[in-house]
Amino acid sequence: MTVFNFSAGPAVLPEPVLRKAQSELLNYRGSHQSVLELSHRSALFEAILDDATSLVRELLEVPLDYDVLFLQGGATLQFSMLPLNLATTHRVDFIDTGGWSQKAIADAAPYASTRIIASSRDDHYRSIPAGPFTSDADYLHVTWNNTLEGTTFQEAPRVNVPLVADFSSSILSEPIDVNAFDVIYAGAQKNLGAAGMTLVIIKKSLVEQTPSALGSYLRYDVHAKHHSLYNTPPTYSIYLTKLVLEWIKQEGGLQTITARNRAQAASLYDALDHSNLFSNQVAHTDRSLMNIPFSTGQQALDDAFIAYAERHGLVNLQGHRSVGGMRASLYNAMPTTGVEALLSVLRKFEQGER
Ligand SMILES: *Cc1c(COP(=O)(O)O)cnc(C)c1O
Repeated sequence: MTVFNFSAGPAVLPEPVLRKAQSELLNYRGSHQSVLELSHRSALFEAILDDATSLVRELLEVPLDYDVLFLQGGATLQFSMLPLNLATTHRVDFIDTGGWSQKAIADAAPYASTRIIASSRDDHYRSIPAGPFTSDADYLHVTWNNTLEGTTFQEAPRVNVPLVADFSSSILSEPIDVNAFDVIYAGAQKNLGAAGMTLVIIKKSLVEQTPSALGSYLRYDVHAKHHSLYNTPPTYSIYLTKLVLEWIKQEGGLQTITARNRAQAASLYDALDHSNLFSNQVAHTDRSLMNIPFSTGQQALDDAFIAYAERHGLVNLQGHRSVGGMRASLYNAMPTTGVEALLSVLRKFEQGER
């Protein structure tokens, strides 16, 4: 049976990437060493890191005045590293769009006074607050794509302070105007590869501000100066990301990927909007391309659907516990056949099949 994995993360990876990783596992490029065994100081690994860096720069059109870093600690460590490095006057503003914003706010609080300048809490986080936004803090933090609630920003807020964005669940799903941001960060396990690595794209002028009274691992300038090789980086996770980036390029680049993501998400939203049983409650203009929550409005029916879908090979469709219902994560690696299988199962369940 073909299984389609709708998990929010760690999530589906492109099958060609897994096959390539398998074929290179025991003998990487004639070295008779596994990628897992390569020294991070070896020429072979440095080439992997260089390729991953230049593919990020190429696919996202990252300008030269930004550093591209591969760190550990997940997006979660960035919730602390950002205020530690950038909150020079100890003031950070946030746009609160849900659970991951809340975590980012809580982790900045020990280091800075945090202020929420806009929130969609009153709307149960089913929309993105409308601008204009004003901030005079050290930076403004936004959660670009809200993995739990299924909302996304469509354009970068225009503010006169550095803009920092958590792109964990939507990086490389669409082109980004990198120039509109000062820091972009994303954990790997949703759209980039395997857990263990966090991509940080940061403006060099901010890196230069890093305070020196910080442990070395916590300092952006240390990582930038050593090209992510200050300490042992997550080598295998970086390698998998390199394979994913190569796969995106082979598929035709970000334009092709984006067009496919848009078509897949549109087909699912369309089915939900025309269903008499299932619905998605997110404001139409703010709907995520990557994470699509839906429900019947009745928990017992939702549970029955999740079990029915699983019997048909569609796994990890349960929604986040804070939202309930179902959630389909349609990351870049989700094949269109997976979305078609989901549409078919939705239709049959609505017709009464159990
Ligand atoms: C998954 C996720 C995180 C947390 O990532 P970790 O790698 O577990 O630290 C943070 N923000 C968003 C938007 C996420 O989707």
